[in-house]
Amino acid sequence: MEHIVIIGNGIAGVTAARHIRKISDKKITIISAETDHFFSRTALMYVYMGHMRWRDIEPYESWFWGKNRLELKKGYVEKVDTDNQTLHFKEGGSITYDKLILATGSVTSYYDWEGQDLKGVQGLVSKQDLEDLEKYAPNNKECPRAVIIGGGLIGVEMAEMLRTRNIEVTMLVREDAFWTGVLPKPEAEMISRHIISHGVDLRHNSELDKILADEKGHVRAIVTKTGEEIPCGVVGITTGVKPQISFLKNSKIETDKGILVNRLLETNIKNVYAIGDCAQQREAIGNRPPVEAVWYTGRMMGEALAQTICDKTFEYNPGNWFNSAKFFDIEYQTYGWVFSESRKKEYEAQFHWKCKSDLRCITISYKKESGEFLGINTFGIRMKHEVFDRWLNEKRSVDYVIQNLKQANFDPEFFKNYEKEIQAAYFNQSVTV
Ligand SMILES: Cc1cc2nc3c(=O)[nH]c(=O)nc-3n(C[C@H](O)[C@H](O)[C@H](O)COP(=O)(O)OP(=O)(O)OC[C@H]3O[C@@H](n4cnc5c(N)ncnc54)[C@H](O)[C@@H]3O)c2cc1C
Repeated sequence: MEHIVIIGNGIAGVTAARHIRKISDKKITIISAETDHFFSRTALMYVYMGHMRWRDIEPYESWFWGKNRLELKKGYVEKVDTDNQTLHFKEGGSITYDKLILATGSVTSYYDWEGQDLKGVQGLVSKQDLEDLEKYAPNNKECPRAVIIGGGLIGVEMAEMLRTRNIEVTMLVREDAFWTGVLPKPEAEMISRHIISHGVDLRHNSELDKILADEKGHVRAIVTKTGEEIPCGVVGITTGVKPQISFLKNSKIETDKGILVNRLLETNIKNVYAIGDCAQQREAIGNRPPVEAVWYTGRMMGEALAQTICDKTFEYNPGNWFNSAKFFDIEYQTYGWVFSESRKKEYEAQFHWKCKSDLRCITISYKKESGEFLGINTFGIRMKHEVFDRWLNEKRSVDYVIQNLKQANFDPEFFKNYEKEIQAAYFNQSVTV
């Protein structure tokens, strides 16, 4: 019987396993060094905040794996020998495969800062990170202040987590507003104000120089590039994540930032595939980043690959870009492409509307010449994915989108209150180009 071995029990690997099992009887083994069972990485924050227990973020009961004949192996694969189709474990022992799926996810990016290996310096990606945060930042007596390096989605989550335990948080952001590499400036500035309103000492144009130790090898302070020393018990490194591929160093599998794959998610080696955060498309798909470190694309890649593995060749075809997140109280959704200042295309115009409360805003992006709708960012307003997906596919005009925004909204009260204001702002052409 063909043996499919999957390294990684995250959303990508587990989705592939489930879908292979649905359509075949193949022997399936899932390997992970991190946890016995799959958990929802996006929900890590809720465990620290006390909203959920660990078992609440495990989507499947422990009997699920045996019942579906999914064998689980805990161990770290340190060597992949593709000539002999064999994986070697750090703990000793090996396993052979007929087909191998690499679904190894991401690790925190560190930038060789002095002191980055001290106790209390950590990212927020793994279960181990969650345990470390619980250990080094259990309360504001043990850890009166934490410093978070970098904005972005994980940085703001970490700030929210620490604030729930009344730990003071200083956040160093290199740019002049939060996440300006991704968000248009008016949105970035609104989110900066919102983060500050939650008691976070958010410093713009500020960078880490080095991290200082106490006599026990624990962090005691950081020093900024301008020489300011900020005492702290924890340093959160949230300057981004990168594919977890270091164990492939001596293998024949071709890598760049991630494991290089084609649209069938095949690597350069026969019978070896890569999916999820660790995969990098050889050729970018539209405007999508070649490495997509988001939950739903991991799931889509897992679903697509399961078909190919079972001899029903199926391309990964993610469709229109979308994503969502939360910045303290403000929900963020994005559909299609709305670029930040630095990445804005020369054909792109943007219309921006912000509510007086400073808690809600919309940016709509469209083609200057034709008026074709390209994408929307919404903050503090929950929108319907399927409506924007359809409008993007139908290449609707920006005028159409503004006139019909109500159709895309979950909250009729919102449009009762703001529809006229948004339409008036748009038709008076207060447009940023
Ligand atoms: C705090 C946080 C919040 C997030 N929030 C969102 C969100 O709101 N929306 C969103 O879309 N995305 C979010 N993401 C991103 C999303 O969680 C990831 O894109 C997704 O979990 C990646 O899934 P994956 O299956 O590719 O890999 P992972 O879930 O990372 O699983 C990979 C597994 O492989 C194991 N592994 C790696 N190498 C080896 C080896 N050599 N041997 C054995 N095991 C190995 C790892 O230990 C890990 O357990 C968030 C991520 C984090 C960290």
